[in-house]
Order: sequence, then structure tokens, then C-alpha cells
Amino acid sequence: MPDPAAPTAEDEVVDICRDLIRIDSSNYGDGSGPGEREVAEHVAGLLSEVGLEPEVFESADRRTSLVVRWEGEDPARPGLLVHGHLDVVPAEARDWTHDPFAGEVVDDCVWGRGAVDMKDMDAMVLAVVRQWRREGRRPPRDVVLCFLADEEAGGKFGAHWVVDNHPGHFDGVTEAISEVGGFSFSVGDERVYVVETAQKGIRWLRLVAEGRAGHGSMVNDDNAVTALAEAVARVGRHEWPVRMTPTVARFLEEMGDVLGIEVDLSDPEPALSKLGTLARIVGATLRNTAAPTMLRAGYKQNVIPQSAEAFVDCRFLPGFEDELLATIDELIGPDVRREEVITDIALETTFDGPLVDAMVAALRAEDPGARVVPYCLSGGTDNKSFSLLGIRGFGFAPLRLPADLDFTGMFHGIDERVPLDSLRFGTRVLDRFLTTC
Ligand SMILES: [Zn+2]
Repeated sequence: MPDPAAPTAEDEVVDICRDLIRIDSSNYGDGSGPGEREVAEHVAGLLSEVGLEPEVFESADRRTSLVVRWEGEDPARPGLLVHGHLDVVPAEARDWTHDPFAGEVVDDCVWGRGAVDMKDMDAMVLAVVRQWRREGRRPPRDVVLCFLADEEAGGKFGAHWVVDNHPGHFDGVTEAISEVGGFSFSVGDERVYVVETAQKGIRWLRLVAEGRAGHGSMVNDDNAVTALAEAVARVGRHEWPVRMTPTVARFLEEMGDVLGIEVDLSDPEPALSKLGTLARIVGATLRNTAAPTMLRAGYKQNVIPQSAEAFVDCRFLPGFEDELLATIDELIGPDVRREEVITDIALETTFDGPLVDAMVAALRAEDPGARVVPYCLSGGTDNKSFSLLGIRGFGFAPLRLPADLDFTGMFHGIDERVPLDSLRFGTRVLDRFLTTC
């Protein structure tokens, strides 16, 4: 018999989110941060309070993740993974209106680093699970809850490590939900919820030119700096062609319908200009990209160095990795070589099936008239790692947002914050979703 005085998910979610934000888990990408141990132990405590016993792992000192299987009514059914990362990108307090690690509530929002990426979703999941446990409810199938270190630096000490070292926790799991999807944006008076069904892949490349070292006063027709600069300029100036993937095509068609305009899939830019802040995300999913980001060469102004190197951040659409590399090779030419720095896969799944139906139904039950559409993320999430176990991942961290909030700008931005109402809405949607998942 549930205790009528026990808090519900909607009661708890705001405080859980604030507590998570107050534990600084900044990830600088070089291991110099505080690590995730403290926040992971806090989460483990919230779960063990309601009788779940998570297994806690450290991939390196203080790089902590945890996982627990919550047994469902029908353990014979394939499991669902609900995962969230515990780290955040760093924040410079002096740039912020409110302390990024204080978890203050101001203007009906929780402020702080992680408020949208993604301690909000962590808190919503924890709040719902805690309520269900108190009420003795079980999900219809096994749900594996996993909270991870190191997402913001590619997951080497988080999702990748857990998948490589403890894959048994995910036996029988076929689907997953996590961050960067399920939120709303407004077009006219329609609210559109985007579910992430695809992600671009990553190729961080180093370009290296080698030449003949020598005195800067001499004639030198084999100057590594010159060769590298030419190659970098060609890469940076290249206009990558539009490549339409099924996810982006579906998204643009739905948007055309909302806006009442004809979208030309071979020339989608005009439609994009009507999407406001979401155009930033969607624009980058129309094509491969390659952005030169760092240059390194030489040590003295009158010495021609023997080599020069540049770093390029390349992102490819699902199915267009080969084209990306072939184009880069053509642009840099035979005298500059490329080396891999970081590589990760692209993902794409279809927007259909019972799990998608459950997402759509849960959103529409809480926001009648909601339009739910798939989209492609230009970045990446831990879904990439879990896909290596054959798990089909979605971005579904439901939030109904005010029309005037620049939500996509808050990811890694200053003054990151989430409305209290959005958190409470999210717990209601997750509750419905888990009931029918
Ligand atoms: Zn994130």
C-alpha cells in the first residue's frame, strides 16, 4: 500500500535536479576535473533508498558510472536501456547571471551547468523510478538504468568503457532512450517535439605536411608550412553538397507541413530559414562538414620547419563516411597526409515501432495536439557506444518548453537553465512512457 504522504516524482524532480547540479562534475577532457564519483554515489544513494542496488564502476580514479537492472513484469521481453551521463562541460562562473554550480531557482527555472545537459533528464528518471518503487509498480519489461561518466569527452571512461568491460549488464537489451530529444519547439502556434533517431559520425583528423627544413632567408620550394596552409584552405573553403538522409527528409517534410510550405528536398535551405534557432542543429545535418580548428608549426621566425600540422573536425552523415574521406584526400592532395585523432560512428534508425508509438502517445497525452517528428543530431551521444551492443538508441528526454526559450543554445552555453514546469512535464511523460514501453 503506497504511503499517501510519500512524495511523487513531480514533487521530487526539482530538488533532485538542483542537488545534482550542486555536485560539480565538470569534464575538462584531460582527466583534471573532479570526476563523477561524488555525483555517482549520490545517484546510487537515491536508487538504494528505494531498494535498487546499483553496481558502481570506476574506469579510472574518480571516473564513476553505475548500472542496475530493474526487473519488469515480463522478463522474457527484450530490455529497455535508460541512460544518462553524469558529467558536464566546464562553466566559467563570472560569465553567468547565477552561479553555475548552485542549482538556484530563479524565474521559475533551475539554473546551472547540466540543467539541460543532462542532469535534468537524470533527475526526471530518478524521480519517476523512485515513485514507482515506493508504489510497488514495475515496468512492463526489464529496464536497465545506467548513469555514466565522461560523455562530454567521448565516453572513453564512461559508456565505451562500460560496454567493453561490463557488456553482460545489457544482455537482452534491444532499445535505449537518453538525451537530446523529446523537447519541444514552437512554430506558429504548433508545438513540435523532436525525437533523435540519427546522429552524425565523427572524424577528427590531423593533417601533416613534411618538407625541407632550412634557413628562412633561403629559397625553399619544399616548405611544409606553405603546403599545409594550401591544404587547410582548400578543406576549409570546400562547399559540401547537400546529402539527404531519410531522417532529415522526414523532418523537413513534417516542417513543411507545419509551415504550410512546399519543401524542396534538393534545395532545403529556404525552408530552413523559417525554423529559427533549430536551424542551427538542422543545418549541420544536411551535409558533411570539415572545420579546420588548430594549426601547429615552427618554433622561430627565421627557421623553416620540417613539418607542419593542422587539426580538422570532420562530421559525416550516416552513410557518407567514405565520401567524406575521399573528398578530404582529394582536397589535401598527395603531399599532405591525414591521420586519425578520434573516430566515432554515425547512427540512424527508423522512426517507427511500438517504442516510438509509446513516445508519441505519452507526449500527446500530456500535450494534446503535439506533433512528434524524428531528427538527426549533428553531435553525438552515448547511444553510439551502446549501438555496438546492437541497441537501437533514441534521444528522448521529454520537455515541454516555452516558445521564447533558446533551448538549443543552452547546451554548453552560459546561463543554462530549465523551467520547473518543463521538468514536471517530463516526469509525467516518462511515467506514461514507462507504463507502455
Ligand atoms: Zn549531454
